Amino acid sequence: MKIHTKAVHAGDRKKAPRQVPVTTPIYTASSFFCESLEDLDRIFAREEDGFCYSRYDNPTNAALEELVTALEEGHGTLACSSGMAAVQTAVLTALTDRPKRIVAADALYGATISLLFKVLEPLGVETRLVDICNLDAVDKAIGAHKPGCVLMETVSNPLLRVGEMDRIAALARPAGAALVVDNTFATPCLIRPLQLGAGLVVHSATKYLAGHGDVLGGVVVSDKDHYETLRTLSRAYGPVLGPFESYLTMRGLKTLPLRMERQCANACRVAARLADHPGVARVHFTGDPGHPDAATIRRLFPEGLYGAMVSFEMRDAGRAEVFAFMERLKMIVPATSLGDVHTMVLYPSMSSHREVSPKQRERMGIRDNLVRLSVGIEAIEDILEDLDQALS
Ligand SMILES: *Cc1c(COP(=O)(O)O)cnc(C)c1O
Repeated sequence: MKIHTKAVHAGDRKKAPRQVPVTTPIYTASSFFCESLEDLDRIFAREEDGFCYSRYDNPTNAALEELVTALEEGHGTLACSSGMAAVQTAVLTALTDRPKRIVAADALYGATISLLFKVLEPLGVETRLVDICNLDAVDKAIGAHKPGCVLMETVSNPLLRVGEMDRIAALARPAGAALVVDNTFATPCLIRPLQLGAGLVVHSATKYLAGHGDVLGGVVVSDKDHYETLRTLSRAYGPVLGPFESYLTMRGLKTLPLRMERQCANACRVAARLADHPGVARVHFTGDPGHPDAATIRRLFPEGLYGAMVSFEMRDAGRAEVFAFMERLKMIVPATSLGDVHTMVLYPSMSSHREVSPKQRERMGIRDNLVRLSVGIEAIEDILEDLDQALS
């Protein structure tokens, strides 16, 4: 089945006995009982599939989990209360039976960096950062640090770099490390990391998966080897999603492939327009043939689906000029998120990379003239017009 069909059908119409609801209801019950206590006993013992308590399993969540598993071509999924709950659960799952060491991409989502150094390091988990786009450096870091987990994002933020995921998986596996991929920026429409050798995939479902700016959620998708550990860990510390958010995420997911096609196509047009604009010094876009990782992108992503994030540097601009540009925008929303149906603009120096020192930002290539766009599904003419009027 193609991803468009799976997005609409997977997970739905499963369990109800005779009259089957066309879509999955929101089960708000915290607990469930059976006609026979013997049956409930077997469910508690996990000898039989079923529901007893919503921290373990919930029918609305189970439907969403089945849908995400189908899209990512995984073995099983855990729906979590946020993207960060998902990242933490995935990393802890990877490390359960392995050395408590991590090799991580040096360009990661800000809260993920905080998780590594402010939460996990004090607990004794050591992390070494590496340029994930330099395969030699990744190889050396794995050899020297002997990690239990390699952690990367498919597309980095905000400079949109893309590492060679399949080759990184091939280095991690023989070294005994599980590859954990944050696939939030790419979505399973562009790449399915478990098929390329990753052990666990995470998403902030808040972004493209739910897609409408009305959910905070996350998912961990697992291969067969990690699934039992993932569920055991979740039962013990309870990072699970609520059924309302599960419902909204599932509703959003049905149009994910359509939204991604439109958003990626719009992003190509936005990147081309910005590249031609005299007020723009440089564009960072995964669909650009001159992108530093263009060969990897062409190899791993489907043609035309290069992602819908576009970053650009305003010519001769600093904070004041960027603020003036953002304030002139009429339709594009200045919001601290991405992946929604509406186009959004973000200033990394003020928001996502605020905690990073100016010197470190400079080293990372995140200057004060850098602006990040998450391109939405609006008519392309209206997006371009808004950008044009605000840039001039
Ligand atoms: C937003 C985001 C997260 C965190 O997700 P929340 O849902 O905000 O907890 C993690 N990774 C990436 C790449 C993100 O964009």
